[in-house]
Amino acid sequence: MQFIDIGVNLMSAAFDQDREAVLAAAKNAGVSPLIITGSSLESSADALSYAEGRLNDCRATAGVHPHNAKHWDDAAPHLLRELAVRDALAAVGECGLDYNRNFSPPAAQRRCFEEQLALAAELGKPVFLHERDAFKDFSAIVKKYRAQLAGVVVHCFTGGVKELETYLAMDCHIGITGWICDERRGGHLVSLIKHIPADRLLLETDAPYLLPRSLPRPLPSSAGGPDAVKVRGGRNEPRFLPHIAAFAARALGKETEQLAAETCANAIRFFKINRVI
Ligand SMILES: [Zn+2]
Repeated sequence: MQFIDIGVNLMSAAFDQDREAVLAAAKNAGVSPLIITGSSLESSADALSYAEGRLNDCRATAGVHPHNAKHWDDAAPHLLRELAVRDALAAVGECGLDYNRNFSPPAAQRRCFEEQLALAAELGKPVFLHERDAFKDFSAIVKKYRAQLAGVVVHCFTGGVKELETYLAMDCHIGITGWICDERRGGHLVSLIKHIPADRLLLETDAPYLLPRSLPRPLPSSAGGPDAVKVRGGRNEPRFLPHIAAFAARALGKETEQLAAETCANAIRFFKINRVI
């Protein structure tokens, strides 16, 4: 079975000690290629350089996360343009709006978001989007640019039926993470996922964040059961994507094999991945 993790923050410091091993373990678990998420101009350049030496295993997005929008200045669109035409580029992003903690002022977030969408539209690249506590402004901005955009994925979808219907009506793809495995805050996704058309669903870990809550953990005094995995410091990894896929497949009432095949085909089509082992 092949799985494609469309959202891995592989350039995060959480992977500085063992990035190659994390990539190898993912591949061993059938998770390949990885789409590495860029969240600032610097991390995007790093991600593209890393992926360019490994085009069969990695691609990368290039963009500025709303948390970093306060650094978006007049030079930024030109720098992003240079990144967005590189070989390993899968999409422009991660970009969007996050009013949850407003690490950047909302007005700066909106400017940063709109200028990235305009650039993606001009270059014909799909976009990898983030929305948190900003649905109204976010959906209005996506709507404004949607007709000009090659493709849109709303990553790490955690919203409700209204949000989902709005995105699907705009022909967006939906990224589902291990959030669905958390019955305390993601339980609603178990029924909502059935409303996502099979050709619009993508899977992602968002590693090192969002370790699936339902992942079997080793017992402290033993090696654990046969399914138990050693989790390093609560860190999520792309090798756990099959667990998320199996959970999502149960919610959908289909075989994991079928879901893996469908979501891989979607990712290959969406990100135009043409060189996959
Ligand atoms: Zn995000």
